[in-house]
Amino acid sequence: MPLFRHAAFEISLAQPSGLPLTAGPEIAFAGRSNAGKSSALNALTGQGKLARTSKTPGRTRLLNFFAVGPDQRLVDLPGYGYARVPKAMKEDWDRHLAAYLQARRSLRGLVLLMDIRHPLQDFDRHLLHWARQAALPVHLLLTKADKLNRGPAQATLLGVRRELARQGQAAVTAQTFSVPARIGVEELAAKLCAWLDASG
Ligand code: GDP
Repeated sequence: MPLFRHAAFEISLAQPSGLPLTAGPEIAFAGRSNAGKSSALNALTGQGKLARTSKTPGRTRLLNFFAVGPDQRLVDLPGYGYARVPKAMKEDWDRHLAAYLQARRSLRGLVLLMDIRHPLQDFDRHLLHWARQAALPVHLLLTKADKLNRGPAQATLLGVRRELARQGQAAVTAQTFSVPARIGVEELAAKLCAWLDASG
């Protein structure tokens, strides 16, 4: 059982190409900038340190690795949709990200965070498409669920699940999540444990 509360920053890499080929299981976190990725990682690990690490200027466009168990890792991917990045750089990074998601053998799953008020935007769909091509399991977090009342939040969750099923993405799982209301933290931890343990 990984100890998320003992998560420790390990390394930042500018490009996935520098990664050792063999490593224990890892789970990547991705989402548009401002989707709540840092807050979710903090809530999961009970540490404010992790988000600060990933938001340190210069690290925001890197892969940040956190050890959560013996040879088990969470990987914070750069928030996409970042502004003021030259197009060529952005395309270059997208290629790196695609290469990482499609080729990383130790990757067991992708947690994709989306603001519950703006689910399934273009780039989210793009990532879902990549993940499917790579047969990579995906778990969607509908973040900031406290911004909606319970009824509309559940309706959005059901709508997202229906839309995924329509697209033949029935294997993708989804849940609501909120840091201040503490919705879904245990559900997320259970999902991560299942992925990490299944690969044992
Ligand atoms: P990141 O860019 O994806 O890492 O997003 P952050 O974690 O920095 O969050 C972006 C903004 O959304 C911040 O102002 C957070 O305080 C806010 N935020 C994050 N999670 C929640 C949440 O569950 N509920 C609410 N109401 N705000 C949140």
